[in-house]
Amino acid sequence: MFDAIIVGSGISGGWVAKELTEKGLKVLMLERGPNIEHIKDYKDALMPWELPDEGRIPEDEIARDYAVQSRNYAFNAANKHFWVKDSELPYSTPAGKPFTWYRGFHLGGRSLMWGRMSLRWSELDFAANGKDGHGSDWPIRYADLAPWYDHVEAFAGVSGSKEGLAQLPDGDFLKPMGLNDVEADFKKKIEANFPGRTVIPPRVANLTEVRPQQEALGRGPCQFRSICHDGCSYGAYFSSLSATLPAARNTGNLTVITDAIVHSVIHDPKTNRVTGVRVIDARTSKAHTYQGKMVFLNASTIPTAQILLNSRSAAFPNGLANSSDMVGRNLMDHIGGAVAIGMYPGFEDRYYRGRRPQANIIPRYRNVDTQEDYLRGFSLGTMAFRSNWQIGSKFPIGVGAAAKDKLRKPGPWMIFVGGTAEMLPNRDNRVTLHASRRDKWGMPIPHIECEPGDNDRKLVAAAQADAEAMLKAAGAMVVNKGNGAGTPGATIHEMGTAHMGIDPRTSVLNKYNQAHDVPNLFITDGSAMASTATQNPSLTYMALSARAAHHAVEFLKAGKL
Ligand SMILES: Cc1cc2nc3c(=O)[nH]c(=O)nc-3n(C[C@H](O)[C@H](O)[C@H](O)COP(=O)(O)OP(=O)(O)OC[C@H]3O[C@@H](n4cnc5c(N)ncnc54)[C@H](O)[C@@H]3O)c2cc1C
Ligand code: SF4
Repeated sequence: MFDAIIVGSGISGGWVAKELTEKGLKVLMLERGPNIEHIKDYKDALMPWELPDEGRIPEDEIARDYAVQSRNYAFNAANKHFWVKDSELPYSTPAGKPFTWYRGFHLGGRSLMWGRMSLRWSELDFAANGKDGHGSDWPIRYADLAPWYDHVEAFAGVSGSKEGLAQLPDGDFLKPMGLNDVEADFKKKIEANFPGRTVIPPRVANLTEVRPQQEALGRGPCQFRSICHDGCSYGAYFSSLSATLPAARNTGNLTVITDAIVHSVIHDPKTNRVTGVRVIDARTSKAHTYQGKMVFLNASTIPTAQILLNSRSAAFPNGLANSSDMVGRNLMDHIGGAVAIGMYPGFEDRYYRGRRPQANIIPRYRNVDTQEDYLRGFSLGTMAFRSNWQIGSKFPIGVGAAAKDKLRKPGPWMIFVGGTAEMLPNRDNRVTLHASRRDKWGMPIPHIECEPGDNDRKLVAAAQADAEAMLKAAGAMVVNKGNGAGTPGATIHEMGTAHMGIDPRTSVLNKYNQAHDVPNLFITDGSAMASTATQNPSLTYMALSARAAHHAVEFLKAGKL
């Protein structure tokens, strides 16, 4: 019998493991995918010509196995083993409502491929549902989470600049990454022409300097290669494998079992407690059970809903912890699609060194102090680069003398501005279990129904108009632009399928991420989120995970579980 079972080893599961084991609990982590060993299983140190087919993935393989995953900007030959095979793990969507689901099922989950943008949410965000009545009011506010943001940022290491913006609170950041000359010029012009708007360096979980907490785990400084999604042999970006799992292992309290697909959670109706999980061995398809005093679901938003809905019993005929009928509902993502790319005049004698591994931020400015004819907001990312030069990959220019020659002649400066819009909670956007289709291990596949609403589309249109206006005001010529709201899921910020709330009749989790229905069941991945805000969400999953783990230990010790 373990003190706790954690399902999933990605960003949120890694944090739960670190916190629980450091408090002395014996923890079992179950991960459905294969083991990935930090450094040994990364291909970041290889040159393109050292990869099979010089880094090209055969088209028939892409069509057969990676029809969805290959659309992701970060998918490539060096990290193909970090992405699921769509052929093995299908999901269904209704006709006319596509959903793009990017997944990494292996030890470390998507912490290996994530973009590492790490932004705090603000009071504005936690108060939004309560204020305009869309979705459940959050049972917490910024003040509840602020110390936990401090806690996770200090350990993970987040670089950034202090800006004093209420809508994007500051932390104790590592030194910021710089703006290049064109970005600095753009910033000056935006701030002069659009009061309330600013351009700030990324807040990103890459070590621009190494503090003792990170050094103790063997993590080194960032080399600005921007191939983080291939894994980083320096351990310079935060992932479960570089940071939380080594810390948890150092305690001697962590057991990890990979290739262990959690099928369902076991519930004892006499005590109204979960007692463990049923598992299918991914290699042999044999069934096992494991017992624990509490269970943390950290399988990520859609799989967590799948597990809960698959955990049916007489006590919970619609799925575990689902007396509210909210499990699977309110699926959200940030809606992309607002994009403007421009040619920036001048600066031909200016260059930059290295590849900054994230874009700059134009923090939310709409509906902060005033009210537009739409609700909530959007934030924008921006970067300027010389065309012909590589910005995020080691493959695009090829190899040899011709490639070297090309690099000596950088093209004109280009600038990109892209937006992500907040998506309102909508109970009809939901994950259910497919009535008849099963995956190769016998699990019902997720059926995902999700589409942007009117307000979401208005936000995308506003972000598009603003992006173009800003480029023009800075003197850039817009050469390419977006075409309306993007497909849900494509921003890779799925949230909401077991959301937190005050009222057990309308929400699944309480203010400690504890199921209203079953006190020893905790959920701290994206499914816990009651709204999306405009910020990338994973830092908030980390803070919620650390906070919930801390409270779970207190409850366990006090005999309250
Ligand atoms: C290319 C890319 C860029 C991104 N950029 C950013 C960014 O800049 N900022 C940001 O905030 N977020 C970003 N994200 C999103 C971020 O990766 C996710 O929000 C985050 O990883 C979610 O953490 P998680 O713990 O919920 O799930 P994951 O990290 O996805 O981990 C879930 C784990 O659970 C396992 N699992 C699933 N089902 C089961 C089961 N039945 N049994 C056992 N184990 C199971 C999976 O195999 C996986 O290892 C990005 C993602 C990608 C792919
Ligand atoms: S940019 Fe930094 S974190 Fe990313 S792969 Fe290079 S050294 Fe590692």
